[in-house]
Amino acid sequence: MPFKHIALLGLGLIASSIAMALRRNNSETKITGFSRSKRTRRKAEKIDFCKVSESISDCVLGADLVILCVPVGAMGDLMQRVAPYLSKGTIVSDVGSVKVNVISEINPFIPKEVIFVPAHPLAGTENSGPDAGFATLFDNRWCILTPTDQTPIDATKKVKKFWQSLGAEVCEMDASHHDLVLSVTSHAPHLIAFTMVGVADEFSKVTNSEVINYSAAGFRDFTRLAASDPIMWRDIFINNKDAALEILGRFTEELFKLQSAIRRKDGDFLLKYFERTRSIRRNIIEAGQDTAEPNFGRKK
Ligand code: NAP
Repeated sequence: MPFKHIALLGLGLIASSIAMALRRNNSETKITGFSRSKRTRRKAEKIDFCKVSESISDCVLGADLVILCVPVGAMGDLMQRVAPYLSKGTIVSDVGSVKVNVISEINPFIPKEVIFVPAHPLAGTENSGPDAGFATLFDNRWCILTPTDQTPIDATKKVKKFWQSLGAEVCEMDASHHDLVLSVTSHAPHLIAFTMVGVADEFSKVTNSEVINYSAAGFRDFTRLAASDPIMWRDIFINNKDAALEILGRFTEELFKLQSAIRRKDGDFLLKYFERTRSIRRNIIEAGQDTAEPNFGRKK
């Protein structure tokens, strides 16, 4: 573990999981945490995954790694507020689901002798808050680092080691490439789920809740995604607008192809399409990035 004192700003699902994963194998590292609301601070204190501070300045005092764990839209403001309290050589990182905008929001407030290593762990659940965290969240999941031109290689290596110590696999990517990849693998699927659940809700008003009563597995999977944190997702779409619109454009084109095949009763087209998509799901499971269990193996 390359860090002696880790400060977590924001104490939700991701921060609490980081602390729990750290504590699992490493009792030496000091972990402090701060959240803006008293309610969350008291909850975190009760769960006892870190030493909860009552101010940002206390939290980061003496920390050699500070991780910003707040919604994407709050990163810049938080960075501005914490900047005066950071000591020389401190590494700042984040866990934001969008990288280009988050980097441009944070970078202007990084003090001269402080280093910024942007990161995004590809692990989460639909639950939020300090009580949603668990120690195994990052096991065998990817964490993508998107170092900037100013990030020294040594600092990136240290952050890489840090995430590996939490159980994650680490890779590096250009920030804009990250945003495009994630809009395909995460952002667009969530948007489709939000839409589908919205459509079903409209439908259920007509059918007296039959949609809920006879909810089949496909719809249940959508509702899991659609139950994700509204603030987090509002911020993701606003901050990854271009990539999200690009992927939605392509999605619409594919949807029209399928619509046309159904209308033409083109069974061959549909069969080939579904065979291709089935093999993608199998590849994801074989790569260890998900489980085949109906509830995805995650806690309720
Ligand atoms: P969460 O459980 O909802 O916790 C959010 C934390 O941020 C809370 O401590 C909250 O403080 C604080 N916060 C909210 N709005 C704020 C604001 N305007 N200013 C300052 N603090 C604010 O969120 P999370 O799931 O841990 O997500 C945190 C970050 O991780 C996000 O950037 C998200 O994109 C990223 N991420 C999430 C997932 C996932 O699946 N959840 C996966 C990978 C990355 P209070 O409770 O005190 O209000």
